[in-house]
Amino acid sequence: MNAPDIIRKKQSHVELSDDEIAFLVNGYVSGEVPDYQMSAFLMAVWYSGMTDKEIYTLTDVMMHSGDVIDLSAFGAKTVDKHSTGGVGDKTTLIVAPLAASLGVIVPKMSGRGLGHTGGTLDKLESIPGYRTSLTPRQFFNCVKKTGLAVIGQNADITPADQKMYALRDVTSTVDSIPLIASSIMSKKLASGASSIVLDVTVGSGAFCKTTREASHLAKEMVAIGKSFGRRVRAVITDMNVPLGKAVGNSIEVLEATDVLLGGGPADLRKTATVLAAHMVSLVHDIPVETALDMASEALKSGKALSKFEEWISAQGGDTAFIRDHSRLEPAPYTSEYKAPQDGYISLMDAELVGRAAAELGAGRKVLTDTIDHAAGILLNKKTGDYCKKGETIAYFYASDKKRFATAKNVFEESLVFGESAPKSRPLVKSVID
Ligand code: URA
Repeated sequence: MNAPDIIRKKQSHVELSDDEIAFLVNGYVSGEVPDYQMSAFLMAVWYSGMTDKEIYTLTDVMMHSGDVIDLSAFGAKTVDKHSTGGVGDKTTLIVAPLAASLGVIVPKMSGRGLGHTGGTLDKLESIPGYRTSLTPRQFFNCVKKTGLAVIGQNADITPADQKMYALRDVTSTVDSIPLIASSIMSKKLASGASSIVLDVTVGSGAFCKTTREASHLAKEMVAIGKSFGRRVRAVITDMNVPLGKAVGNSIEVLEATDVLLGGGPADLRKTATVLAAHMVSLVHDIPVETALDMASEALKSGKALSKFEEWISAQGGDTAFIRDHSRLEPAPYTSEYKAPQDGYISLMDAELVGRAAAELGAGRKVLTDTIDHAAGILLNKKTGDYCKKGETIAYFYASDKKRFATAKNVFEESLVFGESAPKSRPLVKSVID
């Protein structure tokens, strides 16, 4: 068996055997298959796709390339939630305590943001004292005590994905459904939860730009999860517009707590409630409508907020910021982006808003970049809103004034004005299980 023959087979649309996939992936992790051969293989998959059987095998090999977490001590109540990425997507901060407050167990590993999308880990690190790195014993104890814990992705989980994802990032092979599905599902399966809710985002700020692509990805991931004996459901949600009003790290934490306190933007509140309801419905095997009522009530009564406080404290975080927002480090400089003309915002391209926030220091271009937790954009107007010339559309926060000019140029490109309000899009497009 050799790599060039396997690459050639893939180029010619011939289905690869389990052994051939294992040979390439395990060889890449051990260093026997070099970057250039794996790059060629990834590009061949990008062009030729993979059969369901190949995707299943690729996921299996990647999942077993490192540690597989055993959560059986928690029975069948464990549930994970994963978003395929978005701008202003802080739902984990709401959904995890909300679902845990309704009796499910949420042992979660989250990742960092890259490019225009944010990462839960970066947001949590803006909370003073919060520890994203726990030993396995501390993680288990925290989950046992509070019903949830959110830590950083363990370096020993799916090393094949870590190496392949870094290579995909620099070879323009990220946007391939077989590669995205196997990458996400190998990590979710190795993380051990018995139920998984996938938030598959679609729109300008997401990997999938069309509902067709998102449905395809969702179906693929649900099928993989089920074939590994997990309960899986995918919720396709809109990511044409940033979720909520805050795009950054500490400002997103504050916005998430606003929702837990009973307020916050309606789109964020709704999306988070729906996702938490699906988690509860899957684990307790109850209709989603019943779980939706339970989730709305837990938000209203403050039950979810109490769980949030319990969780943040258990991981060492200072919760004073919940009621006193000034306790999270503010950015020293603020600048406003004002409407250049009268009109409705007919488009606010979410990806470009994410890129503008990254220009302010809120995101990274490569994984080794450092994040400025206080930087970001707070939207005063979004798609569908009417603006008068000179009205503030967004507040920009940065630690370095020089960052404002480029960020504003990028933000400006995200906007299209029109004479009438665009048709509003549903936040939740469909559910696949
Ligand atoms: N997120 C992942 O973890 N992997 C992908 O391939 C894309 C998004």
